[in-house]
Amino acid sequence: MFLPKGVYFEKDAENYELGRDLLKRYRDNGIPCFEIDNHNNIEEMRKKQNSEFRSIKQNIIIGVRKTHKFVENHKVSDYLVPYTSSGCIAMCLYCYLVCNFNKCSYLRIFVNREQMLDKIIKMANKADRDLVFEIGSNSDLVLENMITRKFGMDNREFC
Ligand code: SF4
Repeated sequence: MFLPKGVYFEKDAENYELGRDLLKRYRDNGIPCFEIDNHNNIEEMRKKQNSEFRSIKQNIIIGVRKTHKFVENHKVSDYLVPYTSSGCIAMCLYCYLVCNFNKCSYLRIFVNREQMLDKIIKMANKADRDLVFEIGSNSDLVLENMITRKFGMDNREFC
């Protein structure tokens, strides 16, 4: 099980089952959890030096996605969809997330998944043809799944 160095969470995340589960898991494991106002603007992280990148990446942010704007794509998909996470805990040298988020490319997990999926389903149902929604363009969903899975479902380790 991956345990972060610290967890930064929006209070509202506790109104969602996934948010409560994650926070309980981390608190039970003695991980320090800090309440933040907004996952988009964590002053403590912003003020850190680029040289602290490795340590910054060892944190997890838990929040609620408020804006859910689909961006027209029309290349390999119809829409780029900001989905249930952004960023990543890994540090692949070729990763474009660093270009997008700079040192704040840490993993943010959004706990209002049902609302996000509901919007996709409604849009798909209204369309007169099949649509392709690209949901993993600014995160790594495999990694996210390893973190958000319920205990007992999968014992594989992630390092
Ligand atoms: S998003 Fe993918 S490429 Fe980027 S750091 Fe994570 S695992 Fe590596």
